[in-house]
Order: sequence, then structure tokens, then C-alpha cells
Amino acid sequence: MIKQSDIIADLHTHTIFSKHGYSTIQENIAAACKMNLKFLAITDHIYNDGTELAIKNEATRCKYLEKEINSNYEENQVYVIGGAEFNIAQELTKREKLMKLRWRPIGLHGFKLKISELTLNDLINEFEKSARMHNAFAHIERELHKIDNYSHGENLDDEIKNFFDTIIELAKLNNIFLEVNESSIRNNDDGNEVRINYWIRRALDNNCRIYLASDAHFSSRVGKFPLAIELLNEIDYPKELILNCDAEQIKEELKIVL
Ligand SMILES: [Zn+2]
Ligand SMILES: [Zn+2]
Repeated sequence: MIKQSDIIADLHTHTIFSKHGYSTIQENIAAACKMNLKFLAITDHIYNDGTELAIKNEATRCKYLEKEINSNYEENQVYVIGGAEFNIAQELTKREKLMKLRWRPIGLHGFKLKISELTLNDLINEFEKSARMHNAFAHIERELHKIDNYSHGENLDDEIKNFFDTIIELAKLNNIFLEVNESSIRNNDDGNEVRINYWIRRALDNNCRIYLASDAHFSSRVGKFPLAIELLNEIDYPKELILNCDAEQIKEELKIVL
């Protein structure tokens, strides 16, 4: 059984830097403190126009997160992890520079991708290409309903199941964390929940390492995971496989020296 108080990190949050986030870094930090978190990853989006200026801004932002903000670490009591949320099939200049970020979840978004023109195999190929550069796969259940008319009701089509099985295999092979995203469960309009319910059980069968993510776009959501916790407890997901529950594991995986 895991409880909210076992969770010491939120590893996916957004700020105003993402444009569709509505809180500042300071507001997110204050919210994380209130939730007794020890680590807070700021994972604003890197948009598809990976232009020189965008990359420069991104690198500067992360430098501030890691150096300036954490220089008040004692006062804040929460260590801020400079990260970014990447998008599959994303063309970026200076990719190497961004690959130096500690925390680099990558997921599927429709920002500039025409998801309806892709197949599940295209997605698998993209995740496979990303696997060696990223340390986490974010919300793998999202946006799949846009791909074609597979059934996303209570009985998932075999093709969708095969997609998840393959992604899980990839994660396992490359030592990548899979994300349990609180927002995906809460915003279930497109059938996210049925898909999560499937893949989380397969992840458990394979002893996959996972992490919880609020994906907060507003500070009041930071560090709160009621639905994700309920889901994990339903299937008794072992605490040792949940990154957010273990400060030592977080420090080791993200190479954080305090
Ligand atoms: Zn996302
Ligand atoms: Zn996000």
C-alpha cells in the first residue's frame, strides 16, 4: 500500500514557461513544500520549433533551475530538478545540449504532429528511436484515440494492447521509467483510464520501474496523486518500483548531489 505521505517527489509539472501553464516556478515550489515534497521536477515543454533561440532559452532556464533556485535549497526544502518534457518525432537543433538535462521524459503530443496520419507502428518506431536519449516515457496512453478507429472501450483492440506491450518491452530493455499521470486519469474523456488500466498491469507483470506525475499546469495540483495512488494500490504495485517514494533512488538515477 502506498499513501500520499510516501510520495516525496513530483516529477512532471509545468509553469508559465510552457505558455499553457499558469503558475510560476516559485508558486510551484511553495505548493511542493506544502505537500512535504523533497523534489520537484519542472518539465516545461520543448516545442517543435527547436530553433537556436528556443534552445538557448531552454538551456538558460534549466541553468537557473539547477543553480539559482537551488541556492535557496535550505529555505525551500525542496530540490528543484531542471527537466523538460519532450515530444516524439521532434526535430531539434542542438539536441546534444538538451540531452544534458537530468530528467528528460518524452511523450506523444499533437502540437505539430498530425497524429491522425500516424500508425501505431510509427509511434513504436519513434519511441524506439528516443529510447537511448531519454530516461522516461510520459503518459503513453494519451492521444491514441486520434490514431484511427480502434476500439478504446472496455475491450481494447489487440493492436493497442500490442502497442503497450512493445513500449513496456522497450522501457524494460532501456531501463526507462514509465509515467503514471494523474491528469490522464482525471481527464478521462478520450478513454485514457481503460488504456492505463491495461498497461499498468502489464508493467507490473514485467516489474517495470514507474513514477507518478501530477502534470500540474497550476500550482494547486502539484504533488497530489489521489487517483494514481488508488490505481496502484488496486494492483498492489510494489513501492520499490516507484521512483517518487525513494529519495536515494531519485538522487542516484538523476545524479543529484545534495
Ligand atoms: Zn505531456
Ligand atoms: Zn506535461
